Amino acid sequence: MSDHERTFVMVKPDAFARGLVGNVVSRLEDRGLKLVGIKVINMPEERAEEHYAEHTDKPFFDDLIEFITAGPVVPMVWEGQDATRQVRQMIGDTDPLEADPGTIRGDFALDLGRNVVHAADHEDEGANEREIAIHFDDEELIDYDQHDANWLYE
Ligand code: UDP
Repeated sequence: MSDHERTFVMVKPDAFARGLVGNVVSRLEDRGLKLVGIKVINMPEERAEEHYAEHTDKPFFDDLIEFITAGPVVPMVWEGQDATRQVRQMIGDTDPLEADPGTIRGDFALDLGRNVVHAADHEDEGANEREIAIHFDDEELIDYDQHDANWLYE
């Protein structure tokens, strides 16, 4: 297991509009994850369709694209031990009504179509690489030493 596993996370437009960006970032920082890329963008429709390509044929696809392009989003890359699986646990079930209290979706959302945050699927091996490449150029990912690394990792 690598200390440097990178995972793609994105604050969705509902959470941006509701002032939850700091809250989402805070939870990931508090866990000890290292922020290596972050920006605010209005996602172009084409990029949204590429990001959600696996859902092209689903009945909710058009609504999903409309939602994710409806306002600013905050794409991020976080790094840490087992980062992908840990972040998925922290965001909770896709359906906020099924998400445990204490998870991001379980604490901040009530509706499947307004579920606050995206994170790459830990069961889809290529997801991080694919999603990071869609949303970030290499030079937007910052290389630095996490000052408390010795206290986060044995
Ligand atoms: N979604 C939806 N209706 C559904 C299933 C999914 O609106 O019936 C949306 C929801 O916002 C979800 C996104 O589509 O986060 C992508 O679905 P996926 O199954 O990949 O869930 P995730 O990886 O986001 O937990």
